[in-house]
Amino acid sequence: MAGEPQTDCLFCKIVSGDIPATIVRESATTVAFRDINPQAPTHVLVIPKVHYPDAASLAAAEPQIAADVLTEAGAVAADEKIDSTGYRIIFNTGSGAGQTVFHAHAHVLGGRGLQWPPG
Ligand code: AMP
Ligand code: ZN
Repeated sequence: MAGEPQTDCLFCKIVSGDIPATIVRESATTVAFRDINPQAPTHVLVIPKVHYPDAASLAAAEPQIAADVLTEAGAVAADEKIDSTGYRIIFNTGSGAGQTVFHAHAHVLGGRGLQWPPG
């Protein structure tokens, strides 16, 4: 059923605690943890606790939780003190855009100069 935990999903296992992560924030609906392969001094992933394969399907089914992910992404940026220097919130969507984990997640990247357009 949509939104239910998926047994083969890495990020569902982080939500359940079956796989460890360096959690930096948690809310009723979201978890934020450090990316295992950071691409910037701050690289945190914010995920909904419910399982949807990407950001658009999350927003279509659970718009309030999609908003919670964005609110928490902003809170991470403030916690990490990158809100004053600038940061990026990224939702890779589809394998052609580099998505490798099909549980919706926001990347929060900052702490270094960020090129535009991204590669
Ligand atoms: P994406 O490529 O947009 O799907 O992002 C998936 C991200 O998850 C990548 O940046 C990975 O480095 C990260 N990742 C994969 N496994 C873990 C893990 N066990 N803990 C934290 N981050 C992870
Ligand atoms: Zn999942």
